[in-house]
Amino acid sequence: MEPGVSGTLLMLSGSVFTKQCQPVPQALVDVWQADDSGQYDNAGYRLRGHVLSDQSGRYQIETIVPGLYPGRTRHIHVKVQAPSGPALTTQLYFPGEARNNSDGIFNKAMLLPITDGPNGKQATFNFVLNVA
Ligand code: FE
Repeated sequence: MEPGVSGTLLMLSGSVFTKQCQPVPQALVDVWQADDSGQYDNAGYRLRGHVLSDQSGRYQIETIVPGLYPGRTRHIHVKVQAPSGPALTTQLYFPGEARNNSDGIFNKAMLLPITDGPNGKQATFNFVLNVA
């Protein structure tokens, strides 16, 4: 999130875990998405950014609900990587979207549990990486 971006605020938070449910500190959580009108900023890279998980494996990202663009359902791109580990590249989806039924790469395992938050929407999503 940065000044001048319009849309519905979305607070996305959660944890990064190993397959044994151990927290992954310093995991890279890299996200990119379309703006409220379905446009990607491929010049200034607005609405692209990354955070590192904390010592408990927790991350928090402040963004907006992405807009729709032709051919896809609503989604946020994400890449999650443990330090020196393999990257998980996937997308997060939104419940109740008509296009979830027609988007060929939609994955219900990646549905965000969206609820109303104090200033917009919020969701908690945990990632499990293929690391010991
Ligand atoms: Fe996309």
